[in-house]
Amino acid sequence: LAAGPEIDAGAVVADLRELDALTGGPAGARRVCWGEDWRLARDWLGEKLGEIGLTPERDEAGNVWAYLEGEREPALALGSHLDSVPSGGWLDGCLGVAAALGVLRAWAGTGRRPPRTLALLDCADEEGARFGRSLFGSSALAGSLDPGALASLTDGEGRAIGEVLAGNGVALERALDAGRRLERIGGYLELHIEQGPVLESEGLPCAAVAGCAGVEREILAFSGQAAHAGTTPMDRRRDAGLAAAETALAVERVAVDGGGVGTTGLVELDPGIVTAVPGAARLSIDLRHADPEALARVHGGIHATAHAAAERRRCSLAIEPLWRIAPIRFDPGLVALAVAATAAAGGRAEPLISGALHDAAELARALPVAMIFSSSSRGLSHAKEEDTPEPDLIAAIEAFGELASAAAATDL
Ligand SMILES: [Zn+2]
Repeated sequence: LAAGPEIDAGAVVADLRELDALTGGPAGARRVCWGEDWRLARDWLGEKLGEIGLTPERDEAGNVWAYLEGEREPALALGSHLDSVPSGGWLDGCLGVAAALGVLRAWAGTGRRPPRTLALLDCADEEGARFGRSLFGSSALAGSLDPGALASLTDGEGRAIGEVLAGNGVALERALDAGRRLERIGGYLELHIEQGPVLESEGLPCAAVAGCAGVEREILAFSGQAAHAGTTPMDRRRDAGLAAAETALAVERVAVDGGGVGTTGLVELDPGIVTAVPGAARLSIDLRHADPEALARVHGGIHATAHAAAERRRCSLAIEPLWRIAPIRFDPGLVALAVAATAAAGGRAEPLISGALHDAAELARALPVAMIFSSSSRGLSHAKEEDTPEPDLIAAIEAFGELASAAAATDL
């Protein structure tokens, strides 16, 4: 691995504790995007950048950038997101921003220029906690955001997304203009917590991430006939609820057999009373797999089961797509550097696939990308209990610093 200044991982952890004291605490992080505590977190980041002589810039999607000039360009971007879910954890997102700050600070302290320009990136609204649209800033950068499709979104208080963004200096219809920023960028690296139990169960502090699983998300709507629970013989029923129940069990079976994960997080029965056969049932499915063909097989298998269950119970089935994204593979060269860096820090020999999406997944559409995960205690995230043992955090941050040095020294 290439020589660069050593990142002060202890200082990165101290920054994270400072940010937690400012915008979090025992009840969890309060940095919901476009709100007051999020702006406070960004002011804090601006002060930290100021301490090393850098001035943050805002792009048209509300992402924050800071550039440390290097010997050449394109620049290497490092980052994640400062925003959190309500009552969120102290590490989700801000770990990657604090580690990026740590890399820039290490170079600033040497008085030397890094081999290429380093750009810190704090993506706006990764979580989508307020309007339900995740990865806002990074998808604007990557060009996959459709501002027109978002214009009708409102928050829990009925405020329109356009109005809330305008209050934060972001014009929704111009958000895609942020993509111009990538003309100067040759690669992107992100450190994040795993948010799952694999590393903890293996007793390892960190791992490289080779990509993100693809997702198929839809509503299966079964229609039968609502009928009296006492007078309708079992063989005369058109029970939409049981068709949905069979399908829910198939989601588990097919996902397990196919090596992916499948979830039915929402079931609604109509009329939904104790004394009626359900005449209609809505079931959500969320299927994830790293391999596109395996994902298609799992998806097809569940559709086949759902159609068969509907037919057997003389129900009809309508499928309403919610959202989908193909599996994303990160850049093999950068992933190899990440594997070397994490292995040297006592981490996992093989890269993981992320079941969750990250800003890196959007940016991978436009740039060579790699990620590192730290372990997550009990696999918990999006909760105030979210944590990582400090030695694991230190190892992961140091591995990220090594990865940044190695990537900055390669041809991007
Ligand atoms: Zn995150």
